[in-house]
Amino acid sequence: MKIGFIGLGAMGFPMARHLAKEHEVVVWNRTREKAERHAREHGTKLAGDIAECADADVVITMLPTSAEVDEIVDRLLPSLREGTLFIDATSGDPNVSRKTAARLAERGVAFVDAPVTGATVGAENATLTIMIGGTPEDFARARDVLRLNGKTIIHVGPVGSGHAIKVLTNSIMGATVWITSECLLLAKELGIDLETALAVTNAGSGRSNASENLLPMRLVEGKWPLVFKLAHHDKDIRIAMSLAHELHASTPLLALTQQLFSASLHELGDQADYIEVAKIVAKMNGTSW
Ligand code: NDP
Repeated sequence: MKIGFIGLGAMGFPMARHLAKEHEVVVWNRTREKAERHAREHGTKLAGDIAECADADVVITMLPTSAEVDEIVDRLLPSLREGTLFIDATSGDPNVSRKTAARLAERGVAFVDAPVTGATVGAENATLTIMIGGTPEDFARARDVLRLNGKTIIHVGPVGSGHAIKVLTNSIMGATVWITSECLLLAKELGIDLETALAVTNAGSGRSNASENLLPMRLVEGKWPLVFKLAHHDKDIRIAMSLAHELHASTPLLALTQQLFSASLHELGDQADYIEVAKIVAKMNGTSW
């Protein structure tokens, strides 16, 4: 199968590498050097022009937001062929995805939203969880391709529902990271050793991915790697909030989480990692970890 892959960032670069094990993969990236390196190191084909990615059985985008996906769709539309499946793996906006799907359908191109979770380590090891919005037939086609990237692939519902559940689940994680940081900081201020506080949390009902995996490395070992940009996480929570607004839903904790993450983004800048919000929790209390 021929796959056009667009967006070789932290997630897209390893995802395209795994796809190349079974398929002919044509890669395009805004910063061309990354695509050149991908072709050189992983046996993919460098697209001379982005339109070369359109001439494929499957086109995959892995970009920051739906706005960039929209721009790319504009550029690909004249060259897309009938029968192609367009898979948007970006964590995007369900409302934009539905419009994109309608635009592509006019040209006989099927669309699924297929955002992922599992972080860069999941992309590297092909163990991502992938949530797909689309018809059952398009889901089956997408699953056949994306099985090379993930071990859990779930059909969520019609187009847009993959993007919707992705931003909701990331919002849960955001609120959890924040409250866990607050309580661990309080424990520390009360004279409880951080490792002990984490051990108790992880043996009890406060346990989460944040307390087990994300925070110990940062708070105890002092290592703050960039694995998922705070800017991306903030975008996800803002999309979740906009969905809540549309439904006139009462979601005070989601609203507060969105405010805290946006304020943290202003403070830390767009190259910060999402777990660095823990630094803001400390700063708000006049201290550091
Ligand atoms: P990166 O910032 O690492 O990569 C973004 C990619 O998009 C790069 O290839 C970049 O090109 C390209 N790009 C940015 N702007 C444009 C543009 N205007 N036109 C064309 N290409 C553009 O992001 P990630 O790979 O981390 O994230 C991608 C998506 O996956 C996001 O929606 C994110 O929320 C989601 N995600 C990320 C996870 C993570 O742990 N990192 C986990 C799960 C989901 P260039 O190389 O030129 O900058």
